[in-house]
Amino acid sequence: MWGCGARALLGVWEVRLAGFLGRRLLGSNAAAGKSIAPQCWNCGRTREAGCGDEFFCTHCRALQPPDPTRDYFSLMNCNRSFRVDVTKLQHRYQQLQRLVHPDFFSQKSQTEKYFSDKHSTLVNDAYKTLQAPLTRGLYLLKLQGIEIPEGTDYKADSQFLVEIMEINERLADAQSEAAMEEIEATVRGWL
Ligand SMILES: [Zn+2]
Repeated sequence: MWGCGARALLGVWEVRLAGFLGRRLLGSNAAAGKSIAPQCWNCGRTREAGCGDEFFCTHCRALQPPDPTRDYFSLMNCNRSFRVDVTKLQHRYQQLQRLVHPDFFSQKSQTEKYFSDKHSTLVNDAYKTLQAPLTRGLYLLKLQGIEIPEGTDYKADSQFLVEIMEINERLADAQSEAAMEEIEATVRGWL
């Protein structure tokens, strides 16, 4: 069902796909090796993992820097999938903004102000990206190692984007389980 444009693009990405397979293995290892407990920048003590409060030191309550290994889905407590509960996503967004918004750190140290700014930007970006099906789809592909290169000639490769847009429209039209499954299968078919 995919046009020549999409196939041509995927051909260009063959090397990237090979990289993706390698990275997926690394990725699952990294997820399994979550036990490396980070140290607090402020008090130097080891932060306890898995207590459900990942942004603050469990000892001194200082705001910690964003975790660079964390993707938007993990940050927003969503499964890494096309199917995102937008209401839940919105609640998570509001919850995170209540935790990390720079307004709450105006009386804190420069370091915490800086981190709250970073967190806040990250949370905004994650929310915006996952909220819209198109950007969510592209982000999923990016996580799988398929990235539309900067400066891609969208006129030449427009078929690919048109097909993504069509998927979006179908997603918007038919919120049924079957439609979701079809779209998920389509994206899996790319990989
Ligand atoms: Zn601390």
